[in-house]
Amino acid sequence: MKSFTDKIVSDPHHPSFFPTFRQLGYGDLHIKYDESSDMLAIIAIHSTHLGPALGGCRFLSYPSLDAAILDAMRLAHGMSYKAAISNLPLGGGKAVVIRPPNLTDRTRIFRSLGHFINELGGRYITAEDSGTSVADMDIVRTVTPYVTGHSSQSFSFKDPAPITAFGVRRGIEAAIKHRFHQHSLAGIRVTIQGVGHVGYHLAKELSQQGAKLTICDINQEALQRCAEEFRAQIIAPEDVHKVECDVFSPCALGNVIHSKNIKEIRAPIIAGSANNQLEGPEMAQQLKDQGILYAPDYALNAGGLIYVAAQYSNQNEQSAKEKVENIYNTMLMIFECAQNENLPTLTIADRLAEQRLHHSA
Ligand code: NAD
Repeated sequence: MKSFTDKIVSDPHHPSFFPTFRQLGYGDLHIKYDESSDMLAIIAIHSTHLGPALGGCRFLSYPSLDAAILDAMRLAHGMSYKAAISNLPLGGGKAVVIRPPNLTDRTRIFRSLGHFINELGGRYITAEDSGTSVADMDIVRTVTPYVTGHSSQSFSFKDPAPITAFGVRRGIEAAIKHRFHQHSLAGIRVTIQGVGHVGYHLAKELSQQGAKLTICDINQEALQRCAEEFRAQIIAPEDVHKVECDVFSPCALGNVIHSKNIKEIRAPIIAGSANNQLEGPEMAQQLKDQGILYAPDYALNAGGLIYVAAQYSNQNEQSAKEKVENIYNTMLMIFECAQNENLPTLTIADRLAEQRLHHSA
């Protein structure tokens, strides 16, 4: 029987990744197939200008090799921007290991990945991501030191969601300060789309500060739990963007603000954890034109990355938490620059990240 990789590599229906390679300003791309373990992995290194490229490793099924490459490249690009805006001495990278349909030996695959990472000599540092666990990182660590999020580090955290939610809450406070000149969240009405890992913890953070919550989710169990614990009002998922409130907080999926629904948004602030919330950069201009203050997602949801970076460099948890706390100041600075220059907040965030990516020593 032929290996699953034969089919995936020869798929003629997927577009080539080369245009994206140029468009995203790469960087380098490494692909490795190890026959003995059936590991087919991609490591995309978008930038190492500020430091080694850190980014998680996905272990998922993909319809084709090109689809996996594109995923790795887009995610690594996002990691560069997230690290740069958070002032971390790191570049952006990502690993994608294509999950074989008949997975037999996980340990061999992650040992192979460890060898692959080691060959890059520290230019890429891996961590946990969708489909991988601390146990997988422990396997990688038996082969290479270029891994974080394993079980023997200065401090451990099993779930990045609570610290991500903390950073999002601080960013929402900055938005409230900028827009309403108010220091407290007491009485502020927040609508959360998706009360999964981050959304749940965000609801907890916000309700502890006295905010009033409206929530939606397609998972009834998650919805009921959150409604009961935080006295949140439930709304249908299709109406979530139309709710009259102070903050709309997308914490479920990407692409939630698009040309078909943007005019229906009633909230004067959008600030949530979801990655890639805007259908395209032109949405940022339109939000500005509608008088809506948008908190750029990759700057707001960097809490998990900040913690992972601190773990890797053996910092203590307190100093990591202070850096996440600083998301408040980063957001205020972005909002103030955007106001002074009459530009979308996303333009300011991108410019700041790019200045650091291209010009710092
Ligand atoms: P999750 O899967 O735990 O939660 C997402 C929730 O959204 C689920 O409860 C799901 O049922 C719900 N959902 C899905 N489709 C929906 C819809 N159409 N309407 C309403 N709800 C819907 O994921 P998460 O870890 O909480 O991450 C949420 C978002 O934040 C993702 O975009 C993720 O990439 C981003 N993010 C997460 C972290 C983290 O630390 N987990 C860090 C940075 C960014």
